This record gives sequence, C-alpha cells and structure tokens, in this order.
Amino acid sequence: MRILVVEDEAKVGSFIRRALEEESYAVDLCADGPGGLELARGSSYDLIILDVMLPGMSGLQILETLRKEKLNTPVLIVTARAQLDQRVKGLDAGADDYLTKPFAIEELLARVRALLRRGTGEGMGLLQIEDLILNPATREVTRGGQRIELTSKEYALLEYFMRNAGRVLTRPVIAEHVWNLDFDTFTNVIDVYVNYLRNKIDRGRERKLIHTIRGSGYVLKGDSQG
Ligand code: CA
Repeated sequence: MRILVVEDEAKVGSFIRRALEEESYAVDLCADGPGGLELARGSSYDLIILDVMLPGMSGLQILETLRKEKLNTPVLIVTARAQLDQRVKGLDAGADDYLTKPFAIEELLARVRALLRRGTGEGMGLLQIEDLILNPATREVTRGGQRIELTSKEYALLEYFMRNAGRVLTRPVIAEHVWNLDFDTFTNVIDVYVNYLRNKIDRGRERKLIHTIRGSGYVLKGDSQG
C-alpha cells in the first residue's frame, strides 16, 4: 500500500512518515502544493494525505484539481483549522475523511486503515482466497485454519497480493506499492520475498495460490479468480 503525504511542516511530515512506515506502508513525502499535485497525478497511490495550508497551492486546491481530473484515490485531509466551514469545504471538494491537528497518531493510523479498506471495496471484512485468510485489523494470517507467522514485509506483500487477487502484478508495480523503491535496483529482492511467502503459504500444499507468470510477474489466485 503506497501513500503520498503532502505536509509542509517538516516535523509533522516526518512524524507521519515514520509512523506509516512502521506499519509497512510505502510513503512519499512532499512539502509543497504544486509538487504534491504533480506526484499525485504522476504516480499511483492507494491513499493521499493532504495538509490544507501549503506553500504554492492549498490542499483543497490539490484535491479539487485531482477530482476534476477524475482521480479518485482516497484523500484524508489534515489541518490545523478546526472550523466547521473548512471541514465542509474539504468534504465538498471530494475528501474522504478529515482529521484536525493536533491528532494522536493512532487516530491517523485508524483512519488510514479504514480509507484503504474502503478504497479497495473490501469493507471491514477479512480477505480470503480459498482457505487463505488475512485479517487486516489484527494482521493475522491463516491457511487451512493454521496460523502463519509473517515478517512485516512478507505481510505487506501478501496483503497487496490478496487485495489484487487474480490480477497479474509486475515486479515494478510490486516494487512501487510494497517497497516504494526504484525498480531498477530491486528486481531480485522481490523474487526473494515472493519465495519467502511461497514457503509459508504454499509449501507442502496441494493447491498453490501464488503463481509465476513468465515474462510478466506474479499473481495470487484461487478458483474463483479464474
Ligand atoms: Ca501546513
């Protein structure tokens, strides 16, 4: 899950970035309005967190522009301005949620989780592919009722696979969404981690869920994903 944070207060920005990265999200941080808009347009994010008061262009202007351009990435507005009219303006401009500074980081993380679930249309529910079940709320993974222990990167990779079940994911796409790193330097690491995951999810099982698509990438699928 890849998140863009547009926040000009360096302290707040790096605090948010650190908290999100600890939860295994890939994070880009930008400190000005025009730069934020450019990033939001040019890359595919799963969520955008926008401060309102920004140099060059306000968070609300960024949001309005994105919505006009039919970019429907979930947006969480974060602002010091607690007034009702700001909140209404934000929601009118197409924000999905709104958070007033100062906020507890747990509150931000809870909103982020909720928006990411909504963004993928999964609701509050479990992700399930055949007998493989992932609970985003508790981060618990089981297959055939057996608990599977994953490292935080393995978990992030599996969650991304499961939210995109049936879709072939290329290595650059996986690199971008799960690692937030440049693909060129990274191809081998993805294969290594997919192998770690396979060992935990598929090894010794009759039905394999993670498949290699030669020349393309990987896909996680069961019977219902065709
Ligand atoms: Ca600001």
